[in-house]
Amino acid sequence: MAKSVHQLHTEAFVVDTHCDTPLRIDEEHADLGIRSNEGHNDFIRMKEGGVDLCFYAIFTRTRLTPDQATVQAVRLIGEVKDMVAAHSDKVAMAYSVRQAREIKRGGRGAIMLGMENGAPIQNDLSLLNEFYRMGVRYITLCHSAHNQLCDSCAPKQPQWNGLSPMGKKVVAQMNNLGMIVDVSHLSDASFYDCLKYSKAPVVATHSCCRALCKHPRNMTDKMIKELAKASGVIQINFYPAFLSDQYGRPDYFDAADAYDSAMKAYWRSGKKGKKEIAELKMREAYIKKNFPSPSYKLLVDHIEHVIDLVGIDYVGLGSDYDGIEMPPKGLEDISKFEVITKELRLRGYSDSDIKKVLGENFMRVFSQVENMAI
Ligand SMILES: [Zn+2]
Repeated sequence: MAKSVHQLHTEAFVVDTHCDTPLRIDEEHADLGIRSNEGHNDFIRMKEGGVDLCFYAIFTRTRLTPDQATVQAVRLIGEVKDMVAAHSDKVAMAYSVRQAREIKRGGRGAIMLGMENGAPIQNDLSLLNEFYRMGVRYITLCHSAHNQLCDSCAPKQPQWNGLSPMGKKVVAQMNNLGMIVDVSHLSDASFYDCLKYSKAPVVATHSCCRALCKHPRNMTDKMIKELAKASGVIQINFYPAFLSDQYGRPDYFDAADAYDSAMKAYWRSGKKGKKEIAELKMREAYIKKNFPSPSYKLLVDHIEHVIDLVGIDYVGLGSDYDGIEMPPKGLEDISKFEVITKELRLRGYSDSDIKKVLGENFMRVFSQVENMAI
């Protein structure tokens, strides 16, 4: 008899390669050991969603000076490790593929660190080495601005036309360390440079398909084909603005920015300010009315697009939870992950193919990166 969706999902090694949850620890003082209705991820909801490994993004804003970025990254790493240590009955830090699988076998969730924006490395490979020793296992080389390592997809004018000289050194050293090069947020030229200069396969930890949604954060079919040829993987992002052109419009981003500011004011007021609560509710209602969330099925369309293009072995999941203001309907937070398994089953995929999408594809690439370290 066929396994139930729940059995299959529980048995599978499920990976989410990108969550901005450390920001909620840092800015909201969220306790991830308590089930919350705020944000999209905590240790309880991760377990409910059957997610076995979650990458926490050590994200630094592009406006920080290099020294500020380095300090902020170290602080976030400390905060994540403290939070994990405070709830060691539920989760544990993992630093390798082997450890992550062991933690699942022991019935706990594995947390790993990824760095989003390579600014904290500055121009110093010793800092890169040290961040590796602290546990960082991938680096998204840049965010929404060019930095010392490469060009971002956001600005119109290029600065380096791909990787900078320092960026090439960093990619080489990441290969030596066994750290994954993350190409999300990079310009197309930076992406092709990463393929050219990285000896190990690369990963887009939270990106979608440009053929289905024209946003420059997404990957073209040509990029996905090249990524697959190099044995890499694209982890589909849950953000509606990357899933459908309907949400990629300037008025949506304006509404999302206003919502974001209202959220920050609400936190600053200690979640008590009446005016702040009213403003937040108003912004939320505006988005819900004018931009009703798309169904999670749209996300599965992106997964299928990659499968149709290059086969089953090059796609996975990178939610961007806690970094996006409005997840798709049906995937409101990490506790709902099983709907993806359900939908893939409905679309006729075999159990072993579903397991690949849920995590095994990413784990294969991660192992390859680890094995190529010197
Ligand atoms: Zn991001």
